[in-house]
Amino acid sequence: ATITNHMPTAELQALDAAHHLHPFSANNALGEEGTRVITRARGVWLNDSEGEEILDAMAGLWCVNIGYGRDELAEVAARQMRELPYYNTFFKTTHVPAIALAQKLAELAPGDLNHVFFAGGGSEANDTNIRMVRTYWQNKGQPEKTVIISRKNAYHGSTVASSALGGMAGMHAQSGLIPDVHHINQPNWWAEGGDMDPEEFGLARARELEEAILELGENRVAAFIAEPVQGAGGVIVAPDSYWPEIQRICDKYDILLIADEVICGFGRTGNWFGTQTMGIRPHIMTIAKGLSSGYAPIGGSIVCDEVAHVIGKDEFNHGYTYSGHPVAAAVALENLRILEEENILDHVRNVAAPYLKEKWEALTDHPLVGEAKIVGMMASIALTPNKASRAKFASEPGTIGYICRERCFANNLIMRHVGDRMIISPPLVITPAEIDEMFVRIRKSLDEAQ
Ligand code: PLP
Repeated sequence: ATITNHMPTAELQALDAAHHLHPFSANNALGEEGTRVITRARGVWLNDSEGEEILDAMAGLWCVNIGYGRDELAEVAARQMRELPYYNTFFKTTHVPAIALAQKLAELAPGDLNHVFFAGGGSEANDTNIRMVRTYWQNKGQPEKTVIISRKNAYHGSTVASSALGGMAGMHAQSGLIPDVHHINQPNWWAEGGDMDPEEFGLARARELEEAILELGENRVAAFIAEPVQGAGGVIVAPDSYWPEIQRICDKYDILLIADEVICGFGRTGNWFGTQTMGIRPHIMTIAKGLSSGYAPIGGSIVCDEVAHVIGKDEFNHGYTYSGHPVAAAVALENLRILEEENILDHVRNVAAPYLKEKWEALTDHPLVGEAKIVGMMASIALTPNKASRAKFASEPGTIGYICRERCFANNLIMRHVGDRMIISPPLVITPAEIDEMFVRIRKSLDEAQ
């Protein structure tokens, strides 16, 4: 029989458990616990197979920036699929959606970030970056510059190479590292700042980059990669002292700066890119997610003139079947048109983000909440049993973060939990009334978790 939204939930759940392996899940347990079947979505709201309305405060996986249900994107996809559903851009061919999207990205990206290499998503784009920076230094006659410095708790993707680049211990434990990747500490003052003042701590953590360069050898370090705001690691916002010092160090030692904008890009922090919010000048930006608002899988690397020119000297032995996929590219272009023509960044800057910030920071009046951090439309709270000592709750399954997330889920609110932090990243188009509704559910869930 055909499987449809109209089947009883239990039957859908049973088929799902029998045949579908879910990402980042303990699948055997999932079968017993049951999954929620999402059937449709509009704006910031999801519907499930039981007819419940769920407020999606995560915009899917930080990606549905323009909100769900925009018919324009469906129409563009259908039109493109009829006209040219697929062609590649290998071997001296190209097509209009890839040309137009690359041109638009060059226009939106700061400085001389004028060239785009397309990928299927963020993980693939970071794999591209690894090969690209190493090729860059080879072509410059410095092949010994191979080491990429990253940060603990960073998320750069799920392929073997991009997860090695990232700093998630659980992923390293399952697939190991790759050669010539080095991790420094993250600027998470709440968890690791001890008695230091946040700004002093930010500076100390930035200087770990310099220490690592000197230890590894100046002539061996190719690049430093970081998210402007660490997302999946728990929305860790660096103290103000951090980024200017990182920029100084990258400049001084002539290493490429890669900004992973997969979450921060396309309005999430209130500017087109998180690097603009943090005041830094990367040579390469990784993009995905908000590029198409999640309506089609697409990512890429936006590269500066110098890097593009140097890697272009020789054959770059790299590419994906779906690099610049015409349907995904056309959808991304339409998404960027909507972001621009509907002034969604102005809505973020002038309406949604200030309103959210005031309410978010007020959450520290709740007994469970230590610090509250927010940049634009991404925010986190640290849960603590003791605000003064910044004590930690246990982080094993079944403890407070899990309970909190479960309470949110039960209260029809999607909010994520990472260690002792609860995080949100709602669609950028969320209205003040929807933000009010979100806070009713957040506070109810926190009270129930207590
Ligand atoms: N980089 C960052 C900062 C991310 O948050 C993610 C996904 O969450 C990725 C890379 C990987 O992107 P994808 O899942 O599209 O491969």
